[in-house]
Amino acid sequence: MKICRTEDELRKTRDAESLGGAPIGFVPTMGALHDGHLSLVRAARKANDVVVLSIFVNPLQFGPAEDFSAYPRDEERDLRLAEAEGVDIAFLPSVDEMYAPDRSTTVSVARISEVLEGKSRPGHFDGVCTVVAKLLNQVMAKRAYFGQKDAQQAAVVKRMVRDLSIPTEIVVCPIVREADGLAMSSRNAYLSAEERAHAANLFKSLKAGEAALAAGGGPGDAEAAMRDVLEATPAMRVDYAAAVDPETFDEALPGGPVLLAVAARVGPARLIDNLLVEAKRRT
Ligand code: AMP
Repeated sequence: MKICRTEDELRKTRDAESLGGAPIGFVPTMGALHDGHLSLVRAARKANDVVVLSIFVNPLQFGPAEDFSAYPRDEERDLRLAEAEGVDIAFLPSVDEMYAPDRSTTVSVARISEVLEGKSRPGHFDGVCTVVAKLLNQVMAKRAYFGQKDAQQAAVVKRMVRDLSIPTEIVVCPIVREADGLAMSSRNAYLSAEERAHAANLFKSLKAGEAALAAGGGPGDAEAAMRDVLEATPAMRVDYAAAVDPETFDEALPGGPVLLAVAARVGPARLIDNLLVEAKRRT
């Protein structure tokens, strides 16, 4: 596995590894790798000749009161895991390498970025889009892999790639969960044993929302069912519990698919999760 820390090194290494235009699969991450990240690497490994993994904790996507400095970082462990999964190139740029002091460009996707995560974390998706656009231009992959865990991020990135004609296909992979349903997340490391046990109720709330839809309820019923579970959980503070259209993040269409999405604080961690309910599961 080659380790690149500058854009120049990355471009040279990528050109050497992908001689003759062999397809590149790209997995952007912020590190503190877990099985969710590694599932993306495995999907990339299967479908492409060259796999590039980036690890970059992007300051632009953190709000001033958020956990940028506390975000878990363990480069040595991450590189070991990446190598074991067959990553060809690990790209680990510094903040200075990525952002010139007079950086003047922000990539912003309207509307879909303004609800749920975008509303709770102002500027978050501008930070995500700016870094992802830059990474996609640096890596020039055939395919880039994102997790359904961050469903709104995947939808925003898809929209950006479409609108800007970025020639990389966005592949969205399923959520990897712990045995009790908790979605794997680097932020789970912030939880005490007790908080960790309560955090499983995020998934339980999504299942309650799904059951409300299966029983013939509408999005409002699903939202109420999710909120009931979250609000009854000790140490949990609900941010949102929403049932939306999975593509636009607007109101779900009658009889159409519904994305159930929740965000809550559990102790020091802000956690998100979601569940896609296909139209046929709604009766
Ligand atoms: P992050 O390092 O949190 O920025 O995540 C990097 C990528 O891994 C994003 O596309 C996430 O959606 C994806 N990811 C994070 N957690 C999971 C998970 N539990 N299952 C699947 N993908 C995940």
